[in-house]
Amino acid sequence: MVHGGANVRTRLSAAVGAANVLTEPSDVDPFLTDWRGRFHGRAVAVVRPGSAAEVAEVVRVCREEQIPIVAQGGNTGMCGGATPDETGHAVVLSLTRLNRVRGIDTDNATITVEAGVPLAQVQQAAADAGFHFPLSLASEGSCTIGGNLSTNAGGTAVLRFGNTRELVLGLEVVLADGRIWNGLRALRKDNTGYDLKQLFVGAEGTLGIITAAVLKLFPKPLARVTALAAIADPEGAVALLRLLKRGLSDRLVGFELISALALSICRKHHPDLPDPVPGHPWYALVQVDDSGTSTALNEQVEEVFAEAVESSIARDVAIAQSHEQAQALWALRENISESQRREGPNIKHDISLPVSAIPDFLRASEQALSAAFPGAQLVIFGHLGDGNLHYNLAAPPGEDAQRFMDNATRANHIVHDLVAERGGSISAEHGIGQLKREELKRYKAPVELDLMRAIKQALDPTGLLNPGKVL
Ligand SMILES: Cc1cc2nc3c(=O)[nH]c(=O)nc-3n(C[C@H](O)[C@H](O)[C@H](O)COP(=O)(O)OP(=O)(O)OC[C@H]3O[C@@H](n4cnc5c(N)ncnc54)[C@H](O)[C@@H]3O)c2cc1C
Repeated sequence: MVHGGANVRTRLSAAVGAANVLTEPSDVDPFLTDWRGRFHGRAVAVVRPGSAAEVAEVVRVCREEQIPIVAQGGNTGMCGGATPDETGHAVVLSLTRLNRVRGIDTDNATITVEAGVPLAQVQQAAADAGFHFPLSLASEGSCTIGGNLSTNAGGTAVLRFGNTRELVLGLEVVLADGRIWNGLRALRKDNTGYDLKQLFVGAEGTLGIITAAVLKLFPKPLARVTALAAIADPEGAVALLRLLKRGLSDRLVGFELISALALSICRKHHPDLPDPVPGHPWYALVQVDDSGTSTALNEQVEEVFAEAVESSIARDVAIAQSHEQAQALWALRENISESQRREGPNIKHDISLPVSAIPDFLRASEQALSAAFPGAQLVIFGHLGDGNLHYNLAAPPGEDAQRFMDNATRANHIVHDLVAERGGSISAEHGIGQLKREELKRYKAPVELDLMRAIKQALDPTGLLNPGKVL
């Protein structure tokens, strides 16, 4: 259902063209529900500007008409950050028409892209110019670079390249007062006061609308080894990570932990995928990249894995022998979220801990959760190399999955308390959105919340931008 005065729609149409102000329910519906299907909102309209100047004009109209703005990129976010609330007062500002690669500077190794460019297209544009853009997520075909920046997305190469925050040099942002801040600097060194761009990274559309970014590019890896190792327990995973880091240094790009249950759910929905080392409780998916030759890298990786097997750190290892085999191993990891969604709702956690604390956390949380919810199933996977786990609780077999979701708050507190006790975070890479707002209040120190509110007040004093999200 779409609400809002005709006057507002006329003014928005004048700003972006009538064809880019969507109000028909069949047109707007896809923008009003989040990827996981947990949040459903309403909106005055979905507005699709085609340039930063048009975004600025939309912001000015909304400011004058006191209409909240919910920015949206690919709508793949996990915390309902891009979904408006149910009042129907907001405008959804879709950035997907800002889809140009503005340029690549090969000597500076940077790419300048608009916010609505899908991540996969940024990767492709970089590759076409002989470079590597390392941000990599299972949603990369749909998510946009503006959404990646606004959630400070992590993904599978953080171990080597850092989060999105580490990959950005400059931003263009439309501020809540309608001004455009041109911070599109392509500098690796710039200490001229506060690093303003970083305020907008991870702000989930609450401080400004990102319209373009300058991103760092890297040399293309010339050799790549992908392997799936079977391990006995999380201690083994941490030991394997230590061994690989020691043996391969920063050529270790990704280290993903996958539990047997997570793997079996994925293979249930994707039976064509391989099962190269069956029958073990835990797995680590490993990627190693190098700018040297393939043969040399293969030999070194094989040597390190041989040591891991000999010392019983790994039980078995399958090393991909072709690009297709490597892709199939990655598909085992990347299809877990989507397979889980097909299984039914889960109580999900996106947590991070010091890597060293993970085995103890897993022991303590399994004990606490099986006491609280007998028979419930833990579906665990994630970026262990970064200390980040996707730690999900599924209903006991035979129990109604939807009804089991009523336990979410209790389960969240059990998991998040154990995370907090060990110095961890309740949101490693997905953000806060509307899903974790109450949890944020529970775990952030009052002084930190005060600082966040002060920044929000300074940049968006009337609360125009994505109200009800994060804070
Ligand atoms: C299968 C799957 C796998 C995933 N894997 C990962 C993963 O490994 N790591 C990870 O970090 N995330 C992952 N995600 C989550 C998601 O893809 C990321 O959060 C992604 O960065 C969101 O981008 P988006 O364009 O879809 O943003 P949206 O969902 O549209 O928006 C996300 C937030 O950013 C704000 N926003 C969007 N664009 C702008 C803009 N231009 N200016 C200001 N604010 C804006 C929105 O208001 C919202 O708060 C995964 C999601 C799926 C579905």
